[in-house]
Amino acid sequence: MQNYNKDSPQGSKRSLDFVKGANLESSEPSKKKTALFNLRTGEPFDIKENDIHGRTRSVSEFEKLNRVGEGTYGIVYRARDTKTNELVALKRVRMEKEKDGLPVSGLREISILMSCNHENVVPLREIAVGKSLDNIFLVMAFCEQDLASLLDNMQTPFTESQVKCIMLQVFRGLRYLHDSYIVHRDLKVSNLLLTDKGCVKIADFGLARLYGIPLKPMTPKVVTLWYRSPELLLNSKTQTTAIDMWSAGCILGELLAHKPLLPGRSEINQLEIIIDLLGTPNAQIWPEIEDLPALKDFTLKIQPYNNLKQKFSWLSQAGLRLLNFLFMYDPHKRATADECLQSTYFKEAPFPIDAKLMPSFPQHRNIGKGNNEKALEIGNPAGSSSLTDMLQFSISRK
Ligand code: ADP
Ligand code: MG
Repeated sequence: MQNYNKDSPQGSKRSLDFVKGANLESSEPSKKKTALFNLRTGEPFDIKENDIHGRTRSVSEFEKLNRVGEGTYGIVYRARDTKTNELVALKRVRMEKEKDGLPVSGLREISILMSCNHENVVPLREIAVGKSLDNIFLVMAFCEQDLASLLDNMQTPFTESQVKCIMLQVFRGLRYLHDSYIVHRDLKVSNLLLTDKGCVKIADFGLARLYGIPLKPMTPKVVTLWYRSPELLLNSKTQTTAIDMWSAGCILGELLAHKPLLPGRSEINQLEIIIDLLGTPNAQIWPEIEDLPALKDFTLKIQPYNNLKQKFSWLSQAGLRLLNFLFMYDPHKRATADECLQSTYFKEAPFPIDAKLMPSFPQHRNIGKGNNEKALEIGNPAGSSSLTDMLQFSISRK
């Protein structure tokens, strides 16, 4: 409200400039002088109060309803847009300064989400700002479920037809991302959202990266252990879209087996259980393995058999082929999202269910202690607080 100015200029020059002097603590940001420094000349210039946030709205325009997720870096809230009455999810972006004083990860998450437009990628509606310029929130369409809490709470597991419906959507989202040179790098069930219309949305681009040709080395410590590909576990410096495909294989296996497929306790144990399931990799099937830095320090456990067929004894040949294709040790040979979408597995019985026919589930994340679940029903509840609380809460957790 206070800093919202629909008509404020957003020229390209502004984006060149680096914001300095933001007032971090005061509840009246305009009282302290905020200036932009021209990157070319270094000259400061004042910004009119109405222009400080550009077109972005203040989080105080959103009414906090309840927490839906507590991820790695902060809390995600279900909230109501008081202007439109629509439900949204609000996620505070990490703005810790990393490289050259710039919050690289946060900016990356924002810019990648802003550039995406696909029905299987969570839609970013807008960015909202708190009282200071480094309190930045992603305002996303609210999705009723995430697959992790759904799998934990559902009475009967997904049928194979439902699993196929979910995976087809995951592969479509991944094909879109990979075609756009985006590697997600943290694909797992808690980062897959599901709407009441049966639509799967890939979310959480906090670790996502753009990659280009030639591939540049990336930090190896990405992707939650259970979904981490062998090349990452073995410290390969180049990371391709294939790391997301490995994670997708783990998710398919988890949905079919009704429990996490490769729940390692440590990096070494993760490699061991991968080998227990798929056999020991060697230079014949994965030529680059000999150059991977980690193998200079230790040798891999010897286990000659691929046990996927034993593990999924009831699965069709096409299903096993797809799993094996996703679990190719050599990232170059691993299935691409497009290849997965062509798989016979999705063209044979039991056929994938139409997304519109997916059941809807109770919203476990919105029920429970401390949640203002009734907030929406009773209009302006005493229990629901402004997002100022949320801001303070997220700051104090750090
Ligand atoms: P983190 O980087 O902290 O893991 P996420 O983006 O994965 O952040 O969000 C954490 C959790 O918040 C998710 O697992 C999910 O439960 C919930 N969440 C995130 N975005 C939304 C959304 N758009 N709609 C509903 N819930 C969401
Ligand atoms: Mg997450």
